[in-house]
Amino acid sequence: MLQITNLSNTVADKPILKGLSLTIQPGEIHAIMGPNGAGKSTLAYTLGGRPGYEVTGGTVTFQSNSVRPELVEGLSFSGDKREEKDGASTGSARTDVGAIDLLALDPHERAAAGLFLGFQYPVEIPGVSNLQFLRESLNSQRKARGEAPLSGGEFIKLAKEKAALLGMDMDMLKRPVNVGFSGGEKKRNEMVQMGILDPKLAILDETDSGLDIDALRIVGAGINAIMRKPDKAVLLITHYQRLLDYVKPDFVHVLAGGRIVKSGGPELALELEREGYAEVVAA
Ligand code: ADP
Ligand code: MG
Ligand code: MG
Repeated sequence: MLQITNLSNTVADKPILKGLSLTIQPGEIHAIMGPNGAGKSTLAYTLGGRPGYEVTGGTVTFQSNSVRPELVEGLSFSGDKREEKDGASTGSARTDVGAIDLLALDPHERAAAGLFLGFQYPVEIPGVSNLQFLRESLNSQRKARGEAPLSGGEFIKLAKEKAALLGMDMDMLKRPVNVGFSGGEKKRNEMVQMGILDPKLAILDETDSGLDIDALRIVGAGINAIMRKPDKAVLLITHYQRLLDYVKPDFVHVLAGGRIVKSGGPELALELEREGYAEVVAA
């Protein structure tokens, strides 16, 4: 689903990622751990296409099956194009575009292609209600995919369902995006967003930070319910093993010095927790 090969970048002219490679298959959950300043958030932002994160080398391909290429400028294709009939909702023909050059796309195009970024520090958007924001986001992504927009009624039904999944009060969805939310509420709100947008690949940057034990359990269950599917994948960035008790990773990687220096199974996270990064990375 995602193939990162030798990715290097600079942020404010400073090299951060230095030849990072990682392959994620559909159905897999990967955790990335690593010391502060290792480049974990930089990786997330670079994949999301944040301005200022300049790619200086390497490639990233993303397997997406729901983008109408004529609606996405700058797409380049490898692999077979295959016509496919859409489901009942619109009936329009879609093209299975195979592997997309992710780095050629603008951030909103990456999102429409099925990439979701859960931020370490979710932003507040005064004056825009959560519901407005989410409906606009969802419908613009649906449009880019050649799907019909959801009506107000359909959208509210979907929002209620996803809010309930995350134990989030509908009243909070009527408030401006993240304004006055606690750290934990912001993280929960990110997961409601993820549920509504229904991405193929979610990159979650320290979604567990700021969560108390109960919220951690709810958010963990939410991630599993939304993303633990054969055709989806998750890249979980976390400092702590505790989220991994709820969202079991298939692979754990250590990011240090701008590249993946060690990979293993879930036991690697326990080893890191026990012995610290310095020990494990030096071994
Ligand atoms: P992590 O998420 O692993 O803690 P980051 O990706 O946030 O690490 O940061 C990696 C390095 O890049 C750090 O040294 C950080 O100071 C630097 N960095 C990140 N963003 C910027 C920026 N906007 N300007 C300058 N340096 C940055
Ligand atoms: Mg950090
Ligand atoms: Mg970070």
